Amino acid sequence: AIILDKVNKWYGAFQVLRDVSLTVAAGEKIVVCGPSGSGKSTLIRCLNRLEEHQSGQIRVNGIELNDDLRAIEKVRRDVGMVFQHFNLFPHLSILENCALPQILARGTPRKEAEARAMDFLARVRIPEQAQKFPGQLSGGQQQRVAIARALCMTPQVMLFDEPTSALDPEMVKEVLETMVALAEDGMTMIVVTHEMGFARRVADRVIFMDRGAIVESNRPDAFFDAPQNPRTQAFLSQIV
Ligand code: ATP
Ligand code: MG
Repeated sequence: AIILDKVNKWYGAFQVLRDVSLTVAAGEKIVVCGPSGSGKSTLIRCLNRLEEHQSGQIRVNGIELNDDLRAIEKVRRDVGMVFQHFNLFPHLSILENCALPQILARGTPRKEAEARAMDFLARVRIPEQAQKFPGQLSGGQQQRVAIARALCMTPQVMLFDEPTSALDPEMVKEVLETMVALAEDGMTMIVVTHEMGFARRVADRVIFMDRGAIVESNRPDAFFDAPQNPRTQAFLSQIV
C-alpha cells in the first residue's frame, strides 16, 4: 500500500502540496486530474522521491520515505514510472533500453535481461521493433517501450505522468490499451491523465487536485456524473 498522511511541500515560499492525504491499496487504480500547476506531477514524483516533501509522511509498502538513501533505493525498486516524454535512451536500441537497466541496477545476467526485455516488448505488442532505436519509432511505440522498460524491473506499483498527452491522437489508443491490460493484470497504478474514458473504465477512484490540495475524490461514475466541488465542476465542464 501507499500511504500519504498530511504531506506538505514548498518550492521556496510557494506551497505546491497542501495537507495531501491518500491511501492506495495493493491493486488499486487511481486517476489524478486537475488544472495545470495544481501539483499532480509533484505529488507522484514525491512517491519515488524524485522530489522531497517537507512535512507529513509518505510510506510505500511499509517503508517511510525520508533522507534514508537505502529506504529510497528500496522504494524505487518497487515503483516504476512512465513520463510524458518517454525518456528513452536515444543512443540505445529498444532491446538495450529494456535490458540495460536490469543489468546495471540488478546485476541480471545479460541473457536473462534480454529474454525478459523481449517478453515485455511482446506484451506491449512491439517485439519486432527490438533492434531499432527510439528515434525510428512512433510516439505511441516509444511510450509502449517505456512501459515495457519499467515492467522489466518487476515493479509492484506503476506511476504514469500524462503518458498520452504528448502523442498524436491516433496513437493515444494503443498506449491506453496497454495500460488497460496492465490494470486488468492487477497492477497498482497511479495515473495522472485527462483521458476520461480511461478513468471511467479503469479507475477505482478519481482524484481532483487544485492548488496543491486534493479537493475531490470519488468513484469514477460519481466523480464525473455528480461532482461535488465547484472547482471540479468547472474543470469538467471545460474538458468535455
Ligand atoms: P501540469 O498539468 O501542467 O503538468 P501539474 O499539476 O503537474 O501541472 P506541477 O508540475 O506539480 O503541476 O507543478 C505545481 C506547481 O509547482 C506549479 O506552479 C509549478 O510552477 C511549480 N513548480 C514545479 N516544479 C518546480 C520547481 N522545481 N521549482 C519551483 N516551482 C516548481
Ligand atoms: Mg504535470
